[in-house]
Amino acid sequence: MEGALMPTAKTHRRLGATFGVGIAILVSVLTQKGMISGALFRGGQLDIFFFLMAGACGLLGGLLPDIIEPSFHGPRHRGFFHSILLLFGLGILAFLFLYGGVLASPEQFYWRIGVFFVLIGYISHLLVDLLTDQGLPLIF
Ligand SMILES: [Zn+2]
Repeated sequence: MEGALMPTAKTHRRLGATFGVGIAILVSVLTQKGMISGALFRGGQLDIFFFLMAGACGLLGGLLPDIIEPSFHGPRHRGFFHSILLLFGLGILAFLFLYGGVLASPEQFYWRIGVFFVLIGYISHLLVDLLTDQGLPLIF
């Protein structure tokens, strides 16, 4: 099974979009239950545009690591933008978005959710790559 699990761009796109929409649903439920600040996601009063944006930005984020760091040097090239350190950092950033009120003013709503779901897509990409035989480098 060596190398059998080599995610393609298609896999990353699908997973990015799925993660985006999945997290969007979760965020909407948690906001309505008061477990996430209502100010961040309009008190959970989210329209279809929010979910479409979550899917689209998740998809984009899912492609980003391989756009920044394409496999010019063969399919096994993974550097800092595919690292565990970055995954950890982005995870903290996503957490800060949800609980630290990053960019929490209402005027920035679409910017905030755009950035947040690109982040989610990016994280989904690294998680998928982490599960491959090659894994991810710690730093680069
Ligand atoms: Zn990758």
